[in-house]
Amino acid sequence: MIVAPKIRGFICTTAHPVGCRENVRRQMEYVKAKPETQCGKKALVIGASTGYGLASRITAAFSGRAATIGVIFDKPASGIRTASAGWYNTAAFEEFAAKEGLYAKTINGDAFSQTVKEQVTELIQRDLGQVDLVIYSLAAPRRTMADGTVYSSVLKTAGKNYTDKTIDLKDNSVHPVTISPATPEEIDATVKVMGGGDWLDWIRTLSDAGVLASGAVTTAYSYIGPELTHPIYRDGSIGRAKQDLYDTARKITREFPGVKGYIGVNKALVTQSSAAIPIVPLYISILYKIMKELGLHEGCIEQMYRLYHDKLPAENPLLRLDDWEMREEVQTRVAAAWKEIETDTVAQYADIDGYWLDFYQMFGFRVPGVDYEADVEVGVSIPSLQ
Ligand code: NAD
Repeated sequence: MIVAPKIRGFICTTAHPVGCRENVRRQMEYVKAKPETQCGKKALVIGASTGYGLASRITAAFSGRAATIGVIFDKPASGIRTASAGWYNTAAFEEFAAKEGLYAKTINGDAFSQTVKEQVTELIQRDLGQVDLVIYSLAAPRRTMADGTVYSSVLKTAGKNYTDKTIDLKDNSVHPVTISPATPEEIDATVKVMGGGDWLDWIRTLSDAGVLASGAVTTAYSYIGPELTHPIYRDGSIGRAKQDLYDTARKITREFPGVKGYIGVNKALVTQSSAAIPIVPLYISILYKIMKELGLHEGCIEQMYRLYHDKLPAENPLLRLDDWEMREEVQTRVAAAWKEIETDTVAQYADIDGYWLDFYQMFGFRVPGVDYEADVEVGVSIPSLQ
């Protein structure tokens, strides 16, 4: 089948198996060309198929030489539908891991569920004994609780209406958008989905089963960003959830002796999750332009390599990977561009092409070296999911 991108809103409903494989290969080659990391030999990665979670798994395996178990929530191909990008990424990851003699197994299911937690626990008991690194990189729109209640996260302010510029990704036009405040119930639901509750449940389940090694490290990811994104991010409904995540990191360190909880405060990047946040994609495309001009731009893999190679071990639970993004020289220029940017000056102030390139590449399109005219097999299987 010849696979072409089909964009719907801020997602692409198709994915290219060969392009996704190439993305994983390039990330693997990036870390292999650098000094090895020492951050754990047996890693569990929850949310392992795309974005920061995938880059974390690649770093743990191909830089840290770790055995990895990945938890993903992805769809295989069916009929003329391609699989999701995360499915193809995971298939490629396992293929490369096998070539290097690295243990890699994957569980495809809802990470919020107790069933998946127990499946993972049993797999660790059977194959690895214990894990010494647990990476929690979920970004989800909703969570189903054990009693069947479904909570949905919202991307709203946590106070009053807030109006600022945003980019309409359908036609790259810049226009004002007003974000309404979340109700207390919506904030509570967002904290349930994106806060630390499920992370804590994972750590408790693993610890109770005795599969967390003494000295284990666990990480989850957050974003802080500059003032212009605060109303929608840091001070918004998602920010409340991230505050809960910080509290959870401290709680884990306090309540589980021998386990240390960390938060990677990562850079703003194009991923399937960040594309859905109002205002943020415009900020990201301005940031890309400036950080590329200053030679400071990084993608998920550069960030995750820096986290596990340079930032750990650490005393402080906050690992600032946004240090380059937050440099004064970067943020002064972002603020100046933000004031000026309008629809007809998008190309002047923002790296809109870079934004779109990352967007397409997330789904395996526009990846150099891939022949998009070629017929490809879309029914790829993930070896460990037999
Ligand atoms: P992403 O959408 O690429 O990754 C999220 C992962 O979670 C995917 O692999 C997805 O399949 C998985 N997932 C979602 N629901 C699941 C479920 N129920 N069960 C199992 N897996 C599930 O997003 P990302 O941007 O890499 O986000 C990962 C973390 O990084 C989030 O905590 C996010 O807030 C944080 N972060 C992102 C940015 C950014 O700019 N993208 C910046 C800083 C921090």
